[in-house]
Amino acid sequence: MNNELSLYVHIPFCVRKCLYCDFLSFGDKESLMEDYFKALSKELKEGAGDYRDREVKTVFFGGGTPSLPKAEYICDILSDIKENYRLSENAEISLELNPGTASFDKMRSYKDAGFNRLSIGIQSFNDEELKKLGRIHDSATALRTYEDARRAGFDNINIDIMSALPGQSVESYLNTLSRAVKLSPEHISAYSLIIEEGTPFFDMDLDLPNEEADRDMYHKTAEMLLEHGYHRYEISNYAKDGFECRHNKVYWKRGDYLGVGLGAASLIDNVRFNNTRDLKEYLTSSDIIKRDTEELSVKAQMEEFMFLGLRLTEGIRTADFKREFGKTVFDVYDEVIDKYLLMTFLELCDEDMNITDDKEKTAYLKLSEQGLDVCNTIMADFLF
Ligand code: SF4
Repeated sequence: MNNELSLYVHIPFCVRKCLYCDFLSFGDKESLMEDYFKALSKELKEGAGDYRDREVKTVFFGGGTPSLPKAEYICDILSDIKENYRLSENAEISLELNPGTASFDKMRSYKDAGFNRLSIGIQSFNDEELKKLGRIHDSATALRTYEDARRAGFDNINIDIMSALPGQSVESYLNTLSRAVKLSPEHISAYSLIIEEGTPFFDMDLDLPNEEADRDMYHKTAEMLLEHGYHRYEISNYAKDGFECRHNKVYWKRGDYLGVGLGAASLIDNVRFNNTRDLKEYLTSSDIIKRDTEELSVKAQMEEFMFLGLRLTEGIRTADFKREFGKTVFDVYDEVIDKYLLMTFLELCDEDMNITDDKEKTAYLKLSEQGLDVCNTIMADFLF
């Protein structure tokens, strides 16, 4: 059994819903915040007993907008974690923050409480685009938030930006990207907008960039960020050396994580489970409500190992596969691997990340540059 653990804390409150958002968050439930934090504290304390022997290596407060509630609520929850779990001395402790909700004083409080990484949802530096997304902030507020975060002492900051937005030209996207780069954050997450069913965007007639513009934005992201000292370590994530997000890597490498709060998902010893998504039930239940418990079959574990691991640019470590499943990745996936090697969408690499054609010497199996472009198709082929 693994003795490491990551903690995810879900804060489901936002000022209002963005038009593209399908995260579990509410724009009209501020009156329930106090009760929510009580329930969260209770869940953390009651659940701690099962994880006494684990060392918590990363903590991530996500949402929703964790920077919306009073800083005191957030900092008290971090204290609960420190008091009830074995938090590693050099733990990465991140908080998601949205411009327009986080004052300098709040950020100072987060820093004093022990948060050491901020992830700022800037999305765009174009005010028109922000308005169309239904974001509550403009570019001036985003800039101020970033500067305040630095002044508050944060030296590990991520900026989220989005491409393929309604009305967005390639030029406008590149302007956002270069403004992000100029700020020199340690980490940049660059996602394309996905229109999800059930969101207002799904029913709207949107002026979206065409496929060619979308691809252009995607390719230029990698080019520009590489030029400015960011390496791509996951399909949509770029970091300066030493600043890859340790928490997110736990998800991609299928480490154990415990999710607390409304709807939070967990993976512990190959068992997946979720908290209830019903806010009323979460607030009133006297018991921790863990749902949909699924003990993963070995096949399901292998599938996850492959499609999550291949998201990382270094790919999957063949030795890890062997250790987990007692067979080599070629024993299980030889046919599909050969198919994509032939198409040059997959690459075999040795211990020093040099390309090899010798399966015996292979330490990593990864997507090639071209493979990253069509990653969804390839990953789907690793499902049984
Ligand atoms: S701030 Fe984030 S979580 Fe909140 S509504 Fe907007 S996209 Fe959703």
